[in-house]
Amino acid sequence: MNELITIPRFERIAFIYHGFGAAGWGEKGLEKREEWQDFKRLYLRQVHSDIIHVISDVPGQTLRGDAMITGLPRLFLIIKTADCLPVLLVDEKKRVIAAVHCGWKGTLLRLLEKVVSGMKTQFGCNPVDLIAAFGPSISGRCYEVGEDVRGPFRDNCFPDKLFRPVPGQSRKYFLDLREANCLQLRRQGVGDRNIFSIDICTHCDRRFPSYRRDRAAAGRMFSFIALSR
Ligand SMILES: [Zn+2]
Repeated sequence: MNELITIPRFERIAFIYHGFGAAGWGEKGLEKREEWQDFKRLYLRQVHSDIIHVISDVPGQTLRGDAMITGLPRLFLIIKTADCLPVLLVDEKKRVIAAVHCGWKGTLLRLLEKVVSGMKTQFGCNPVDLIAAFGPSISGRCYEVGEDVRGPFRDNCFPDKLFRPVPGQSRKYFLDLREANCLQLRRQGVGDRNIFSIDICTHCDRRFPSYRRDRAAAGRMFSFIALSR
């Protein structure tokens, strides 16, 4: 399988490349395109944190964290996931991009909100100019969690409607990770019509790696964004 999914609204932006690669797309997919040959690639050691890196120089070593923001051209910001939600952001006016890894822990820490806030303070971005893309992730119909997850979300003022009881099971819930992150963008002033979501559940769609489905055997899907100039 060798598939790359893109967002039409992002494709219309002449100065970015982006995409969400299905299982097996990975490194090979990034290497294939002629015009990407001299682009640098930036990966993070993802740790389910709220650590955000503003990239103003290409770092010499792998950074630890879960989000990157940059205005540098020809640099791929790459997020690897298997069920977690990958989010890409662009400010068309300021020419600033971000890539974010949103699992339940990062979501609970309001990582995405902090990224928007970082784009504001570091680059002068106005949230109404931001365009966001949510890639494939485990859906709210499949992402089963327990009270250990629901409790901290409630304590951190997330609405309880993000958790739907699993029929026939006590103290088990389906968490809607997308909605939990959508709320954060809205809270920061990103418009609903600037939020684009790929409605694919990684747990159901076998083209995509799923940690919940395949456990240790799960690969990682690549989500990426770069400024071309
Ligand atoms: Zn599913």
